[in-house]
Amino acid sequence: MPGKIRAETKKYPEKNVGGFMKEAVLYQKLEKENIQCNLCAHRCVIHPGKSGICKVRENVDGKLYTNVYGRAIAQHIDPVEKKPLYHFYPGTKAYSFATPGCNFHCKFCQNWEISQVSNERILEMGQKITPEQIVSNAKYSGCTSIAHTYTEPAIFFEYSFDVAVMAHKEGLKNIYVSNGYMTYEMLEMIGPYLDAANIDLKAFRDETYRRIIGGSLQPVLDNLKKIKEMGVWLEVTSLIIPGINDDPEEIRDMANFMAEELGTDVPWHISRFFPAWKMEEVPATHLNTLQLAEATGFEAGLKYVYIGNVASNRDATRCPACGKVLINRMEFGILKNKIQNGRCPNCGAQISGVGLG
Ligand code: SF4
Repeated sequence: MPGKIRAETKKYPEKNVGGFMKEAVLYQKLEKENIQCNLCAHRCVIHPGKSGICKVRENVDGKLYTNVYGRAIAQHIDPVEKKPLYHFYPGTKAYSFATPGCNFHCKFCQNWEISQVSNERILEMGQKITPEQIVSNAKYSGCTSIAHTYTEPAIFFEYSFDVAVMAHKEGLKNIYVSNGYMTYEMLEMIGPYLDAANIDLKAFRDETYRRIIGGSLQPVLDNLKKIKEMGVWLEVTSLIIPGINDDPEEIRDMANFMAEELGTDVPWHISRFFPAWKMEEVPATHLNTLQLAEATGFEAGLKYVYIGNVASNRDATRCPACGKVLINRMEFGILKNKIQNGRCPNCGAQISGVGLG
């Protein structure tokens, strides 16, 4: 019997085509060259030659590598309101970037073409943009902040971290737009460089997180509290999907959690769902449902509740004390910002946020 012929597997650095691989942070070595990644709450155990759930972190001979260091798949200059962040330097620009891949597999993902891709396809995607280039592009284009966004910053953390450190050195702010599934270890590491975050609260039922999203609820709730405690400016987004998370009781649970555990100052963005990816057959969210969710948020005591993804004038910031309109927005632009020194000019109440005017 001839001996088994083993397929030749390329090792690092020969595998590092294009220079997108870098040894990962936050992992531990296990027996038999297995690895545990400690970047997100999945804490994947990865066998040699395999990658984690996010498909961008690979075990090569007992070492963990990211495949997306500098692999920019998207770069845009966005209004900060588009993140959405309504209480963080309103009217400024955020240099927004991402790599392919994600640690969630939301069946309703709007960005599935860059987040839900095969291991092989990821290796063909993106162009090499160094952290220095991201920061210099942001400065050159007059941005106040850099947004680590579109897919999930946790899965391109090594790249994101280097960008964040350089951004602070250059006087730029860092924003995470995230699903909130990172580990405490990762939050501790990025915390000193993180200025603001918009975190998705995609449902308030663990079953939904497991069946539709590919994760679990508790780590997200824990991280929301942790981010708030760290002093990072926090806003929360919930995409309301018919038949998935639009039950009034579930919406009330979300609102109560926010008011009781995060505080009534945290803005809540209730976002309209439109059919996408594996949920093309689900209709767009009815406006009545969004209005009911908005009312539920205010009833819970939240001071700032916004309806997003709709053509309406509902995205104005009102003074929670006297009710005067303070910021008028249109299509992610600011029409008027009346806030003075962080206060309502009418009644003098403090308005929550950072760099409000
Ligand atoms: S980032 Fe999360 S999904 Fe990716 S390998 Fe690490 S633990 Fe797994």
